[in-house]
Amino acid sequence: MDKQWKLYEDLDSILYTREQLAEAVAKLGERITRDYQGKKPVMVCILKGASVFFCDLIRQIDLPVEIDFMVVSSYGSGTATTGEVNIKKDLGRPVNGRDVIIVEDIVDSGVTLSSLKKWMDSKGVASLRICSLLDKPARRRVPLSVDYSCFEIPDAFVVGYGLDYAERYRNLPDIGVLSPRIYEK
Ligand code: 5GP
Repeated sequence: MDKQWKLYEDLDSILYTREQLAEAVAKLGERITRDYQGKKPVMVCILKGASVFFCDLIRQIDLPVEIDFMVVSSYGSGTATTGEVNIKKDLGRPVNGRDVIIVEDIVDSGVTLSSLKKWMDSKGVASLRICSLLDKPARRRVPLSVDYSCFEIPDAFVVGYGLDYAERYRNLPDIGVLSPRIYEK
């Protein structure tokens, strides 16, 4: 841990170091390269949380990928998703007939991604897979299977490597558990 970084004082523990993240992302990139041989997938980064993971992941994929970016939020926070998603920034190009991989930072309740999945299916994609750096299956409220993920994590609030709390900590190179004293203030 870079003890000299003031930001680390707000963490209770480090969950994954930058070395562990790099190793897991490289393995995932190799897996996607194998699975999509002969294809030209469109990789869609869900901003802002997935941005750091996305930039590392695409550089581990030996395929002619295209990239795109979206900003989304789900309507409401109830357990029953309506299938509606609030698109704050849409795709730059149509994805009908394309093999799409949605790249997310973390799947928690699953509400956001299950809504986005329905939206994407309605665009006539050839195939659709979900890739999330982290998965918190214990917190799932709607059924959602994650096709690719680096780590399953326990029910804790984590920050770093793109993940924020109130827009902070995205620039931490490692992922850590945020001390509850920060958000219980
Ligand atoms: P859900 O799966 O509940 O619809 O939403 C997932 C989103 O909630 C993620 O994209 C992320 O923005 C946020 N989220 C869920 N758990 C965490 C966490 O432990 N840390 C951070 N920073 N964000 C989280």
